[in-house]
Amino acid sequence: MKEKRFDYVVVGGGPAGAFFALEMVRFHPDKSILLIERGKRVENRNCPAAVTGKCVKCKPFCQIMNGFSGAGAFSDGKLSLYNEEDDDFYVGGNLHKYAGVDNTKRLIDYTDKVYLEFGATEKLEGIDHPGEISLIRKTAETAGLDLINIPIRHLGTDKAHVLYQKIEKYLEAHGVEFLFETEVQDLLIKDNTVYGVIYHSNGGETKTVEAGAVVLAIGRVGANWLLNLCNEHDILTASGVIDVGIRYELKDSVMAQINELLYEGKFIAKPAPYNDKVRTFCQNPSGFVTTEVYDGGITLVNGHALKDTKSTNTNLALLVSLNLKDMPNPMEYSRNIARNMNALAGGNVIVQRLGDIRIGKRTWPEELAKNSVVPTLKAASAGDLSLAMPYRELMDILGFIEMMEKVAPGFADPDNLLYGPELKFYSNKVELSTSLETSVSGLYAIGDGCGLTRGLMMASASGVYLARMIR
Ligand SMILES: Cc1cc2nc3c(=O)[nH]c(=O)nc-3n(C[C@H](O)[C@H](O)[C@H](O)COP(=O)(O)OP(=O)(O)OC[C@H]3O[C@@H](n4cnc5c(N)ncnc54)[C@H](O)[C@@H]3O)c2cc1C
Repeated sequence: MKEKRFDYVVVGGGPAGAFFALEMVRFHPDKSILLIERGKRVENRNCPAAVTGKCVKCKPFCQIMNGFSGAGAFSDGKLSLYNEEDDDFYVGGNLHKYAGVDNTKRLIDYTDKVYLEFGATEKLEGIDHPGEISLIRKTAETAGLDLINIPIRHLGTDKAHVLYQKIEKYLEAHGVEFLFETEVQDLLIKDNTVYGVIYHSNGGETKTVEAGAVVLAIGRVGANWLLNLCNEHDILTASGVIDVGIRYELKDSVMAQINELLYEGKFIAKPAPYNDKVRTFCQNPSGFVTTEVYDGGITLVNGHALKDTKSTNTNLALLVSLNLKDMPNPMEYSRNIARNMNALAGGNVIVQRLGDIRIGKRTWPEELAKNSVVPTLKAASAGDLSLAMPYRELMDILGFIEMMEKVAPGFADPDNLLYGPELKFYSNKVELSTSLETSVSGLYAIGDGCGLTRGLMMASASGVYLARMIR
């Protein structure tokens, strides 16, 4: 019997793939859609570390990163909006370079409404108290830092899970077909036109399915696979910026003002001597440091905040952006840092006190046990980040921390903790047309995995945009 042919096969059920499907079923209900996701349904996703306190490196795929709603399911659910007066986008990625700035603002308005419809909180963070925020900005400027303040809608990890489950059920009720625990392994391409995919179900056989168009929405977790696919099929790419850094954990009390007024302060600086761009990212007041596992067993750090369960620490990423133009595959640079750091920690992530880094010594477990900032990620191994973090990036981060001390006294306290590695795998930029089509006809790419976006809101909006643009 001949297999059914679909109008669209979507690879990856993260926010980008889900919002593509959502927009399609609403405005083109006649189109048939198959969404293939290598992880589980959102309601069946559970990270064992929540119970065991330790990452067990789930097989075949990390539960945090894979499954319906992608990295969004266990993410903190901070939906970054924009400022009407800005004529550029400073967070979230590059969708505006394809869709235009004004159109991207309208896309975000629309996507935000859809999130509200599915149960997102009405409350926006960072819009009250403009006078006090402007004082923080002035202090930051005196210290050589810029403060980017955009409104944020904070779902909270636990609430995000529920919201995405409603979207999953809605899509199914409206005719989207799903294949869960099924991994797309290759594309069917003839005469530079895609006509389907080859997939493999967990414990099952390898099959093919044909489609009028294929949408790659594979997230950062699929970025390495996509890079190999691009090499194999001559899909045009350009190398993008890499972000290398650490997750920083400190007491809520140090961040109290920023947490209260902004929820997430986005600070940027170019510390001497390298003048690389360093920024804060993904701030989680009263949050928890977590791990995420990538292909090849690479374990990275991340962080989240729950709506109902709170710690007494704030965590945030400190990321250094580097443009390694001469390197054909900058992602390998990041992966090597991660491999070394994981190897030093017996396959785990490392945590070190700031004070110990400053005096050139490792942190010992018994010192960590007495530290005034109590680590929320119990599984991290006390050790020495400087053995694996390149000197340049470490200097950038330490310089940035000293600058931030002027904005939030206590930011450079010796007891504050650095966890590593925190890296972002979006440096493989796929060349896309304004309708997000790759150099292969009928093959489209959206979300974080192709280097287009860097966060929940813009990834979701990229799905909406493609649904409106696709032929
Ligand atoms: C712990 C954590 C906290 C975060 N907090 C925030 C936050 O507060 N705010 C914010 O804006 N962003 C946050 N992020 C980032 C955010 O989750 C991502 O930017 C967003 O999920 C990207 O969406 P996406 O659809 O492009 O990719 P993803 O969400 O990564 O989804 C990609 C999906 O594709 C699937 N896939 C990959 N390859 C294949 C294949 N070959 N076959 C089948 N399926 C495949 C994966 O299983 C995955 O489910 C966080 C991320 C993490 C990990």
